[in-house]
Amino acid sequence: MLYTTTSILKLKRDLLKITQILDVESIRKDFPILKREVNGKPLVYFDNGATSQKPQVVIDAITNYYTNENSNIHRGIHTLSQEATNAYEEARKKVQQFINAKHSNEIIFTKGTTDSINLVASSFGKKHLKKGDEIIISTMEHHSNIVPWQMICEEKEAILKVIPINDKGELLMDEFKKLLSPKTKMVAVTHVSNTLGTINPVKEIIAEAHQKGALVLIDGAQAVPHTKVDVQDLDCDFYAFSGHKMFGPTGVGILYGKEAILNNLPPYQGGGDMIKTVTFEKTTYNELPHKFEAGTPNIVGGIGLGVAIDYMNSIGISTIEAYEHELLAYATKQIKQIEGVRIIGEAKNKASVLSFVVDGTHPSDIGMIIDKLGVAIRTGHHCTEPLMNRFNVPGTARASFAFYNNEEEIDIFIAALNRAVTMLK
Ligand code: PLP
Repeated sequence: MLYTTTSILKLKRDLLKITQILDVESIRKDFPILKREVNGKPLVYFDNGATSQKPQVVIDAITNYYTNENSNIHRGIHTLSQEATNAYEEARKKVQQFINAKHSNEIIFTKGTTDSINLVASSFGKKHLKKGDEIIISTMEHHSNIVPWQMICEEKEAILKVIPINDKGELLMDEFKKLLSPKTKMVAVTHVSNTLGTINPVKEIIAEAHQKGALVLIDGAQAVPHTKVDVQDLDCDFYAFSGHKMFGPTGVGILYGKEAILNNLPPYQGGGDMIKTVTFEKTTYNELPHKFEAGTPNIVGGIGLGVAIDYMNSIGISTIEAYEHELLAYATKQIKQIEGVRIIGEAKNKASVLSFVVDGTHPSDIGMIIDKLGVAIRTGHHCTEPLMNRFNVPGTARASFAFYNNEEEIDIFIAALNRAVTMLK
């Protein structure tokens, strides 16, 4: 890589702009894992798309819950049970405010995005789908937003249609509009692609689908950690996301659904907490949100997610967005200077995901070499095999950034990548 004096000055200006947005050095101190070394080198964690790291406040909340508050919720009159119930329900309200849902009973705790989408595909599909009905997804969906729809389509003899994309990784909106018809019962698309970083025009998609009478589910797994989500403004019918990708614990996620629509769906699973009365002859179901929360939930997960939301709010989602935008621009500019690198996903609107392939090399070889230099990126199909087929690649290498990453780490990554490319050629 050859830098001229002008390009060095330009890079320095970019760096200054980045550091003015956010005091990243003080934020990094909140994430204990960032202090560790991997293979004798400081960890550079660029696998945030797969899961994010946890700030100390979230780790402390988990420890505190098991140390001082552990109890089952909703069922006990004793103090511990009430404290745990209050903390869990408080977390639900934090989620409600975070995505601006109208009511807290529209917030269903699930295991994660996958669980949320399966819930909708199953409950909605069982009640509302019939032979010949159509579901629309897109080429860039995660397997979690493909397979549950395939399963219910198979069961109900419904048809799955797919919105194509252009070479930059943007949805072809005209083609989407052509796919919509009175037969369309559900449109399920991702807000942000985990592989390409594309931010989809979901508000427009929702409006178009509603005109044809279809409901819309948005997979927000990669959007919520990076951008402001307002479900009332979007007017989506369902919105799904995971706690672990937004600095909270694993095993907890959210399904937002409009109250009237959720009320009109059958329960997903049967068991404790989701019932009002049970006799051997007949069971009546609980009200929202409990109707969809059978069994003991991930209590500490919910509480930890609430703390993660507090933490994100303390930084500010628009600050996070602006900072990550600059990080992505900086990394993109640098990676483009490495010979043989091809970026997969060059949409106009992108979140902080940088997927790439390098001529004549396999992504996993790159991943392995740079791991030896302390840099964690993801390689493979990223649970988007149909998308890999669309780009005719077996997989990509993907660096995905969070607000605790900095430009120094990008420099380390680029140097490591240069070394890997030289070794593999
Ligand atoms: N949807 C998208 C866009 C994702 O990136 C992911 C995870 O990578 C998922 C769904 C599935 O999320 P989870 O494994 O947390 O259920």
